[in-house]
Amino acid sequence: MSRKRIYLDNTSTTPLDPRVLKAMLPYFSEKFGNPSSIHAEGVIAKNALESSRKSVAGILQCRKEEIIFTSGGTESNNLGIFGVVKALEKNGLSISKMHFVTTNIEHASVLECFRELKARGARVDYAPVGENGVVKAETVGALLKPETVLVSVGLANNEIGTIQPVREISKIIRAHNLKNFKPARMVPVGFGAGGLSNFQTCFHSDGSQAQLYLNCSPSRLGVDLLTLDGHKMYGPKGVGALYVKRNTPLSPIIFGGGQERGVRSTTENVPAIAGFAKAFEIVTAEREKESARLTKLRDYFYSNLLQNIGIEVTKEGEKGKNGRKSDRMSGQFKRVVINGDLWERLPNNINISLPGLDTEFLLLKLDAVGIACSTKSSCLGSEGGSYVVRAIGGGEERANSTLRFSLGRHTTKKDVDFLLKCLHKIAPKYFVNNQ
Ligand code: PLP
Repeated sequence: MSRKRIYLDNTSTTPLDPRVLKAMLPYFSEKFGNPSSIHAEGVIAKNALESSRKSVAGILQCRKEEIIFTSGGTESNNLGIFGVVKALEKNGLSISKMHFVTTNIEHASVLECFRELKARGARVDYAPVGENGVVKAETVGALLKPETVLVSVGLANNEIGTIQPVREISKIIRAHNLKNFKPARMVPVGFGAGGLSNFQTCFHSDGSQAQLYLNCSPSRLGVDLLTLDGHKMYGPKGVGALYVKRNTPLSPIIFGGGQERGVRSTTENVPAIAGFAKAFEIVTAEREKESARLTKLRDYFYSNLLQNIGIEVTKEGEKGKNGRKSDRMSGQFKRVVINGDLWERLPNNINISLPGLDTEFLLLKLDAVGIACSTKSSCLGSEGGSYVVRAIGGGEERANSTLRFSLGRHTTKKDVDFLLKCLHKIAPKYFVNNQ
């Protein structure tokens, strides 16, 4: 009898929840209308669109008008960043006068936006994250300038799962904005705003990986723009949302029929949007219970692993029985290395390096025994190792030997036991405490 597959790549994408599929199906068939049409079919589609928006806004505790549906995380990030840039440009500010702050571990769909902005003459500063993969709010704060137009810090990292102090960063940005507020020169900005002689620093966060496990209410986080992604939460692919706080300067980057309040033209993908809303409702209702369950499984994996390599871990820090922490961090100690903070990370994220080992090969071996995992972000192709692990000071060897196991709704303790057993078997010298 063949063994069931164990899917541990939920960061890449999650399987569609059957309840979500059920909610989507009518909008592919009998309720197929275009929400912009004024006949009955159009009205039915429009109602579905607007009730989806209402539901998402309800979960985020924001206004309905603040939700723009997009084609996914990448588009939401691009719209959030370039939308602000375009609005400011329209108001007379040239890109060469704009300054941006982000971190060096953002997803490619954020980093590439900044690369493009830099190529167009903008100044961009990258806040370094610590060895634990978490950026300090003060580090971001220290980079702010009067001409900083936007800060973008993802809520949770897609490779190592570390959770960033977005709320603390927002407080620093608010204080910065208050300091730079010059009432005499202030001109209100916002959708379709007039001239600009002063602006506030906007704060964008990519919540694509966080929406499943963390409370992403924008007012709680203190963000002006927040990216969400459907297929990372058991919803469909090709749909996402961007929360845009009222009065945030944002211009369209796609032009056409003026849908989504003129910000994002194209006929709305009603089945996918209905699925997005349903998926968000379900994961929100199940969030607490599922987070607790996965945290237990994740910690079970880590404690088993660490016992096997002779490391004791306490909340205060790691205590090496057999090796000094610095040895392991520098990759000298040929054992498993955990990438990212053990505690400030998503409940479902396991990320390790096996310095010196070809983990692409190991991934294929695990695949052959029925386990699906990844080495790094699936958006990066197979070249070059993990820039995230390099950014946390892991060095080349560690960056080139990462393995990511992202647990999900279907992961059981039995699956984790099987994974541990396979890892011990495939790479024994990394796991057995033989010092
Ligand atoms: N942001 C993060 C943190 C992600 O993990 C991903 C997908 O891996 C994206 C954005 C891009 O999402 P999509 O490929 O759905 O556009």
